[in-house]
Amino acid sequence: MAEFDLIARIKARARQRSDVALGIGDDAALLLPPVGHQLAVTCDSLNVGVHFAVDAAPADIGWKALAVNLSDLAAMGATPAWVLLALTMPQADAVFVDGFLDGFCELAELADVALVGGDTTHGPLSVTVTALGFVPDGAALTRAGAQVGDIVCVSGTLGDAAAALHLLQQQVESDPPAVHALRARMQRPTPRLSLGVALRHRAHAAIDLSDGLLADLGHLAGASGVGIELEAEALPCSTALAAMFDPIERLRYQATGGDDYELAFSLPMEQLDTLRAVLGEGGVSLQRIGRVVAGEGVRLRDAQGVSILFKQQGWEHFSESGA
Ligand code: ADP
Ligand code: MG
Repeated sequence: MAEFDLIARIKARARQRSDVALGIGDDAALLLPPVGHQLAVTCDSLNVGVHFAVDAAPADIGWKALAVNLSDLAAMGATPAWVLLALTMPQADAVFVDGFLDGFCELAELADVALVGGDTTHGPLSVTVTALGFVPDGAALTRAGAQVGDIVCVSGTLGDAAAALHLLQQQVESDPPAVHALRARMQRPTPRLSLGVALRHRAHAAIDLSDGLLADLGHLAGASGVGIELEAEALPCSTALAAMFDPIERLRYQATGGDDYELAFSLPMEQLDTLRAVLGEGGVSLQRIGRVVAGEGVRLRDAQGVSILFKQQGWEHFSESGA
């Protein structure tokens, strides 16, 4: 199969939007951003052997490649609109592309994003997505802006994906429902798009959790010029994680495990109830996990107030420990 046949396959399944004047097929896409908005743009790659296993299901790779990018837009308070897909493959593999599109297009439909272009090349399997979204002028959230006295909150639960990766490496079978649930969180993370929008004008700072809670909140604290104190007992834990690991073990995944794709944010305490009301019954759960203090860095404390330290704060590429 030739490159152009693959592109035709992709184009046939690409979601359309009325703000795309010209999509896949020309030298560049022509797009119609709404007035009074800023364009939020982000790009993330997934590489075989690093971000997914050689035998990962193509549909899961497709979902995740889009999800991690939409998560970045959510963290900025942006509404996603358009995406570009750069696919590098060892051979022109239509079966892989069809499977990949199953997952990619499923999430694209849910999030209402149009695939407007990309690139298809030859080489070791690698997927790069560029995502573009809108945020009203002045409403974008950044990592800077956390204020002393804010509370720090996180969506969903923490550590599930990292625990799933660990179990996979130990070759634990996925039969128990808890293992299955953890694995689903690793393979199909949920970008918190509604939450990101609801955080506009309410949160002071936000970040999505890709490298681990302590590492990512360290970025937020650094950008904001503040310190953060977290209570270990407050970190949200899924029933699946609690079923598979004792409290000490699971705390390491919750605090330092990567690939959560939850949002962490700081805001004035009185905003939390409003936020929950805006998100409504079906909205993602929100947990208060700590507070913003004067100083620098992130400290995690147990119920007695004793600091808990981990050898590694989170996932880092190019680190010597090989994480
Ligand atoms: P050019 O050589 O001008 O860059 P290409 O042959 O690479 O054009 O691509 C032709 C068209 O198909 C372009 O509109 C491009 O954006 C689109 N395209 C190529 N690969 C992909 C892909 N993997 N996903 C979506 N669109 C793609
Ligand atoms: Mg090209």
